[in-house]
Amino acid sequence: MSGLDTQQWFTEVFEPSGSAFGLAITAKLDEVQSPFQHIEIFDTTHFGKLMVIDGCTMVSSRENFLYHEMMSHPALFTHPSPKNVVIIGGGDCGTLREVLKHQGVETVHQIDIDEQVTRMAEKYFPELCASNNDPRATILFDDGIKFMREAAPESIDVVIVDSTDPVGPGEGLFNRAFYQSCLNALRPGGILVQQSESPLIHLQLLTDMRQAMLDAGFAALQTLNFPQMIYPSGWWTCTLARKSEGFSGFREADAAAANLNTGYYNIDIHKAAMALPNFVQKAFANQK
Ligand code: SAM
Repeated sequence: MSGLDTQQWFTEVFEPSGSAFGLAITAKLDEVQSPFQHIEIFDTTHFGKLMVIDGCTMVSSRENFLYHEMMSHPALFTHPSPKNVVIIGGGDCGTLREVLKHQGVETVHQIDIDEQVTRMAEKYFPELCASNNDPRATILFDDGIKFMREAAPESIDVVIVDSTDPVGPGEGLFNRAFYQSCLNALRPGGILVQQSESPLIHLQLLTDMRQAMLDAGFAALQTLNFPQMIYPSGWWTCTLARKSEGFSGFREADAAAANLNTGYYNIDIHKAAMALPNFVQKAFANQK
């Protein structure tokens, strides 16, 4: 009998794209049904611990650095001088850890709707929570939609939306009303960056959320693409939206000199992430 017959697997089936993703597991370590989501933790044979929310892979010990670095460093090095940062979602705290590597950042507020995600991260992904006690960090548990609606005008330099997919509690983070709240809270030159799904299997969603950002009044958009092994298709994006000006490069010298101890991000990766394939450029061609 082949080893596969006895091996246990966690499999996420993504019906709309007729695809699935699996990781060999040794055990389910924990699970909790919060008021918002069902959170599961598995031990895997090759990827360390795995967090799953409502059946969707979120983070694994082995590869999460790619995503957390690409959700933070490009936007922070594109902003001329980010001081006040807000993370919507991000309950596993990996993005928070990356943002706090930027010494110029003075405050980071992380607002995740589900406290149980952070409690599970503290227990099973302590490396992602290593910066949670940084005096610049404030970790709150609330609805990010409400937080941004109530945020003081022109009080934030960068908003990072590290949320689940646009279903359940995350749905309201992908529409014009939310983007208008973000625009209002950003200072001139401020940047919103949001995980914007897969260019291969979510192209319409990505195009629609970009259009909603423009309709909300953002002046310019920049979609970056990067590998993300444990999400559907393994090919992911984040989209930067700028409040009051276009994109003209990023602080390359600062990024090269920062020595942020990253595993994936560097200035060449940043530049390469901006290169979009023809089918994606075509989908964006008429957006304004
Ligand atoms: N990297 C993951 C991805 O791209 O799917 C996201 C990781 S992070 C764990 C996603 C977080 O978004 C979850 O912790 C979830 O609780 C949070 N979230 C979903 N809807 C939210 C909302 N309306 N306000 C704040 N946080 C929200």
